[in-house]
Amino acid sequence: MKTFEDVADFHGHVCPGLAIGYRVSLFVLRELGGRASDEELVAIVENNSCAVDAVQVVTGCTFGKGNLIFRDYGKQVFTFIKRPSGEGIRISVDWKSPEETDEEKRMWDQYRRGDRSEEVLKTVHNRKAKKINMILSAPDEELFKVMRGGMDLPEEAKIYPSFRCAVCDEKVMEPRARVKGGKIVCIPCLERNG
Ligand SMILES: [Zn+2]
Ligand SMILES: [Zn+2]
Repeated sequence: MKTFEDVADFHGHVCPGLAIGYRVSLFVLRELGGRASDEELVAIVENNSCAVDAVQVVTGCTFGKGNLIFRDYGKQVFTFIKRPSGEGIRISVDWKSPEETDEEKRMWDQYRRGDRSEEVLKTVHNRKAKKINMILSAPDEELFKVMRGGMDLPEEAKIYPSFRCAVCDEKVMEPRARVKGGKIVCIPCLERNG
């Protein structure tokens, strides 16, 4: 099992978002049983925040393998589905961050205005560390709203033939190739030339 340190290593820093993603991932593995093995696990993430890096490391659902699907809805929602059964779980993050103290608000304001004094940095750092610790130790019920059941499986990642773009001569996979003036072009070339 991957640790929070493993996840931080991959992500490059520790932050509350990463902690949320880590908790989501642990929960999923516990609920759906193990990292993707014969039954493949597919993740559908509705944001591209820090949390998604934890999901990739812990669950084995990765962007490159095609079993991590990004839907750009700006929501803290993570759905995991097993292939081929379609058994799934939808996790909506519902954690309420504790109220900031007046002192913390003031310091955070100064930080946003570019103040990097030791006092400001210390408060911002402590606040972040406190949030991370709270997320890592909170009970599941305080973090998530969960729905279970059968889900529609997204289409499987496919391998497509590729064509050469008539403008830049680089290869482009078939579903992304476009035709312009009777020639096959890639999307960047199509957009660049209007
Ligand atoms: Zn982060
Ligand atoms: Zn091109």
